Amino acid sequence: MENLLALTLADVTPEQQEGEGPSFYWRWLGRGALELTPFEEHGPSLVLSSGVHGNETAPVEIVDLLLHALYRGDFPLRCRTLVVLGNPPALAQNRRYLDSDINRMFGGRWAQFPSSDETARARWLETTVTDFFARAGDARWHLDLHTAIRASYHVRFGVLPQRSRPWDERFLTWLGDAGLEALVFHQSPGGTFTHFTCESVGALACTLELGKALPFGQNDLSRFAPTHLALRALLSGTEAEHSDLPVERYRVVQQITRKSEAFRLHMAAHTLNFTPFRQGVLLAEDGDERYEVQRATEYVLFPNPSVAFGLRAGLMLEKI
Ligand code: ZN
Repeated sequence: MENLLALTLADVTPEQQEGEGPSFYWRWLGRGALELTPFEEHGPSLVLSSGVHGNETAPVEIVDLLLHALYRGDFPLRCRTLVVLGNPPALAQNRRYLDSDINRMFGGRWAQFPSSDETARARWLETTVTDFFARAGDARWHLDLHTAIRASYHVRFGVLPQRSRPWDERFLTWLGDAGLEALVFHQSPGGTFTHFTCESVGALACTLELGKALPFGQNDLSRFAPTHLALRALLSGTEAEHSDLPVERYRVVQQITRKSEAFRLHMAAHTLNFTPFRQGVLLAEDGDERYEVQRATEYVLFPNPSVAFGLRAGLMLEKI
């Protein structure tokens, strides 16, 4: 089962669906989902997902390397783990999604999208991670690994869902040790995988944006080394090497939503993530609706004028 990625891409159902590795029991739960239960448990129950967007390949390759290392016994597993490859058909075609973006569908929002393999997948993933966390202790982590589409002032950053309870500083410190240069805190609910696990099972959850990805086999995985090493430490129940680099914190202050054909985003196509805009600048228009910078300075994240109606065309942030 160390070949989870190859099996998943080929859509092969393995003959053997459970067994023992060097330091853990494993159980195949369905296409792209593998549960690992360590003989000696230490640390949180962890959902480690990647490939929710099928063209974001580098983190999938990192997870593949970690799985091979675990099955070889290079390091012991101490952390109860569910490995998830989010969107297998899209991964096989190196496309972000085939019909609709899975990472907008969680929390039952799949019911509002035209029925497709992806709406079925989102629903199945909700059930699968809920079952996994139902057997977990209080320490619950969900790391959802992505790569950003566009260039960014912060090469690696994390996006954290709205949370009614305070964040655990150890979790935030680990994210910095994993090489994230910035953390963005959402203030309202959304349809992402991490919003779902945070809201429904109280997981400490983060969407990690780890820089740009190329098709399978073409990624320079050395650029992802801090995240790779920190994941290895987490899985083996040891401390990640501590990074003293500052981690900037931002909160979301407004969302720009494309509601109609009249929508215009007033930013250059190549605008970097975290580009600052001064108070009063017109960011976007949608018929009579105008989006302007409200605070002294706001920073843009994920600007994208060509999303479907009703979806996010960009987020505006302030530093905290
Ligand atoms: Zn993504």
